[in-house]
Amino acid sequence: MVADRTTLARFLIEQRSHHPSASGELNGLILDVALACKAISKRVAYGALGGVLGAETTTNVQGERQRKLDVIANELFLRVNEWGGLVAGMVSEELDDPHPIPPQYPRGKYLLVFDPLDGSSNIDVNVSVGSIFSVLRAPHPGVDATAPDFLQPGSEQVCAGYAIYGPSTVLVLTVGTGVHGFTLDPELGEFLLTHRDLRIPESASEFAINASNRRFWEPPVRRYVDECLAGRSGPRGKDYNMRWVASAVAELHRILTRGGVFLYPRDTKEPARAGRLRLLYEASPVALLVEQAGGRASTGHRRVLDVVPEHLHQRIPLVFGARDEVERIEDHYAGGLDPLPQQPLFGSRGLFRVRGQ
Ligand code: MN
Ligand code: MN
Repeated sequence: MVADRTTLARFLIEQRSHHPSASGELNGLILDVALACKAISKRVAYGALGGVLGAETTTNVQGERQRKLDVIANELFLRVNEWGGLVAGMVSEELDDPHPIPPQYPRGKYLLVFDPLDGSSNIDVNVSVGSIFSVLRAPHPGVDATAPDFLQPGSEQVCAGYAIYGPSTVLVLTVGTGVHGFTLDPELGEFLLTHRDLRIPESASEFAINASNRRFWEPPVRRYVDECLAGRSGPRGKDYNMRWVASAVAELHRILTRGGVFLYPRDTKEPARAGRLRLLYEASPVALLVEQAGGRASTGHRRVLDVVPEHLHQRIPLVFGARDEVERIEDHYAGGLDPLPQQPLFGSRGLFRVRGQ
């Protein structure tokens, strides 16, 4: 069976043949990341038998209580990637500062940023979790990277990807030539190409948002969701389903597979906090994958890939998915439609006739 399939290594070698000047170092780095994901997948699969469930007593830089598996996954990412001379530095959700490469190892020409375990509160209830990562060029190859080296807009990424640990483990990545998915064969321990050139379906009928925050939402978000909830009798003229997995990776995987839109907007619950997800190692890789799959990722006001990070753990409002849906939300932010009515929204469909709908 493996003879009929393309392994991740073969896929990367074939991609590299389009770039004759490429040294193969990026491929080496991606394969190392894939190894970390395989190791995490195995720990996840053993669950309670592996003693990986439950919380640690520590909190991370975000002030979040770490789960045992957050710590294990972070260690795996660091140990697998620090020795090979491919990276000049790494930034993790779990670390305040860039991880210093141990002195005995060479420094490379790439930067690796990652959330080693996304959606980690899902682990105790046996729901999908993931890892998400992004690769940037080191501004100073061969020497230790400093924090400012990482503050590059998402458009500078040379690779972005994630692994989802669900009923099967799937690694999805882009090196700028579309988005491709590889399913882990657990017996071979190999990622095999199963989803070539993923494209986000254009007609969406699902949206994902944490509706418990509704009272804190900004009016454009509330308006978009109200339009969806109004279903067939509202301005969208069709019924929508709502989804919420509480893991950005799992939401992204569903949207790449089945379409729809995800929103974690800025809200007024904690006004000082600009959204929930982290720009460098969540929103940026999500945005590159989504754009490479034909979709769009936005803050509501602008393209996520254009945002230059100001600090390593910066949060950002994030809307991503099918292009038309994201553009509709951006239109609401831009005030391109009628102002938000004061009265119940869908007394009249005439509201939206301005756009000929
Ligand atoms: Mn996360
Ligand atoms: Mn995490």
